[in-house]
Amino acid sequence: MHKILILLFTIVNLSCSIFVFYKRKRNMQAIDYSEIYVSSIQGRYVTYDHLNQFISSLSIKFKVVTIGESVRNESIKSITFGNGPKRILMWSQMHGNESTTTKAIVDLLNYLQLKKVDALEIGNACTLKIIPILNPDGARDYTRVNANKIDLNRDAHDLTQPESRILKKEYDAFDPHYCFNLHDQRTIFNVGKTDQPATVSFLAPAFDVARNNSPSRKLSMQLIAAMNSELQELIPGQVGRYDDGFNANCVGDAFQMRGTPTILFESGHYVGDYQREKTRELIFYSLLKGISTIVSNSIEEFTVEQYLSIPENGKQFVDILVCNDTTLNKDLGVKDMVPIQYKEVLKNGEIVFVPMKHVFDMTPVKIFGHKTLNLHDEEDLNWLKNNDIVKLLD
Ligand SMILES: [Zn+2]
Repeated sequence: MHKILILLFTIVNLSCSIFVFYKRKRNMQAIDYSEIYVSSIQGRYVTYDHLNQFISSLSIKFKVVTIGESVRNESIKSITFGNGPKRILMWSQMHGNESTTTKAIVDLLNYLQLKKVDALEIGNACTLKIIPILNPDGARDYTRVNANKIDLNRDAHDLTQPESRILKKEYDAFDPHYCFNLHDQRTIFNVGKTDQPATVSFLAPAFDVARNNSPSRKLSMQLIAAMNSELQELIPGQVGRYDDGFNANCVGDAFQMRGTPTILFESGHYVGDYQREKTRELIFYSLLKGISTIVSNSIEEFTVEQYLSIPENGKQFVDILVCNDTTLNKDLGVKDMVPIQYKEVLKNGEIVFVPMKHVFDMTPVKIFGHKTLNLHDEEDLNWLKNNDIVKLLD
């Protein structure tokens, strides 16, 4: 009888472990994103006007606080979830026109609201403090800078702007174990020397000019390696590593100097996705993988070498590459190409993409186009005419 009981106990225990393992796998690998996606917030233009309704619909498990005001006196909010010992601080839209990660944050909050079991596990292990839009004036104007035309990511040391001081105050009070610094990058970036767009890029910022490693920088690298392992399943070859030149006035570098593992996220281009809804999904998975790696204490499974094996970003892409335009411009040879880059312009509450002839700071050896068109092809020519590009080729 005793032996049978022990056997039964072992079987029950074993099946529980299998269930837990299965559940963890399921959480990370097979999320039904359509269930999580918050469709009321879409596109590139995102301000607190777009977020407020969603934020006020959150349950009491999410503590929403006004943490200060922007130059033009708009409230800046933070949302806190969980009460676990590992504190993660994240902020988005410190550059006002970089909204993709804000949308991913909204999806993360929705995930925590819908997936009660997973949310309990995360909330028991972590306290998340999220500042969804740090630069509300820039978000409204659709500018990188704040209302005083200052780049907040070059103000971490000098703290001349109210938004910079708010972030510093929250950082000091919250004393995070990890910081997620959330951004967008332009469509010009490719991975290494390949013709793959850098759909997501990461950086473990340096803490000194020599770009040495410190324990906190090492942890940032390992966490990026974890997120990269997840992303390679979804977008193989489309993850890049951002330039690690040191600047003490950049927020990531400043927090890394204080010993906090900080990760720069850069949402980039996915083919055809100028509204960055696909990239939003990928950033959501990255955030979840980053958090779950911290929750499950599995950061040591990932290495600095894995981080360093992510190729650095190149700047070889343009939005449109027009080839063989000798019919329109006699100065260009058959092999010449005209690079066109979209300028993002805020018009009636939406972002429109205005094509402009692109001038490279330094012309790369090879140029790639997210769309490549041949002027000798009738269909391509019609597309260029219909999209107001032919006039740029004269
Ligand atoms: Zn940015």
